[in-house]
Amino acid sequence: MAREARLFVVSGPSGVGKGTLVAMLRERLPRLGLTVSATTREPRPGERDGVAYYFLSEDEFDRRAEAGEFLEWAWVHGHRYGTLRQEVERVRAQGRSVVLEIDVQGGLNVRRSVPDAVLVFIEPPSAEELERRLRGRGTEDEASIERRLAGARGELEQAGSYDVRVVNDDLERACSELQEVIETYENNGGHTEDVCDQARD
Ligand code: ADP
Ligand code: 5GP
Repeated sequence: MAREARLFVVSGPSGVGKGTLVAMLRERLPRLGLTVSATTREPRPGERDGVAYYFLSEDEFDRRAEAGEFLEWAWVHGHRYGTLRQEVERVRAQGRSVVLEIDVQGGLNVRRSVPDAVLVFIEPPSAEELERRLRGRGTEDEASIERRLAGARGELEQAGSYDVRVVNDDLERACSELQEVIETYENNGGHTEDVCDQARD
């Protein structure tokens, strides 16, 4: 059966393990397309411009937003983050599926412009574990951790608006589930009735 290139959005609260999961997923499915988001936040140590993000000044972000260059953009934890249309188009032109790791608001905005995008929400096993992971990562100061935890409560309420929910309990297990979601949507458009038809044939 032909594989269809799709646009996937992976969202979830900060510290839930999106970056870790998506990096593992890319190792398992190297054919997935890579896009780099733009942001106005400062680079963390070791983050390279054009690799982790395109690090833009406020003025440059404004200019690109006004020029309509973003598929979506959102304020996240006091900074702006956005997906450049050109990044997505470049990957889709290669016939590859795209995985966007973006915040919940951005994910819902993508659905408005790309109605057949597949929205996957990554959930923590518990609120305590989310806090443990966020602190354990050691990249944020206390104020930023508090802001992210406060934001997480509102984000988790949006999980029901997503197409699929994956609990990131055990990393290997969650990655396998995510991989299965991607392959299912690529192979049969995510239509469960197709799967039932095949089972009957
Ligand atoms: P996000 O991209 O969602 O902000 P990260 O991928 O940076 O989150 O993960 C936050 C922290 O949690 C990292 O230190 C990572 O190693 C850890 N982590 C991710 N997934 C798991 C998991 N399933 N079990 C335990 N720790 C995890
Ligand atoms: P961080 O600062 O930890 O790299 O990312 C903070 C948040 O920004 C994460 O929740 C991440 O998913 C989100 N993010 C990263 N890129 C984009 C993007 O292009 N658009 C939107 N809306 N959110 C993004």
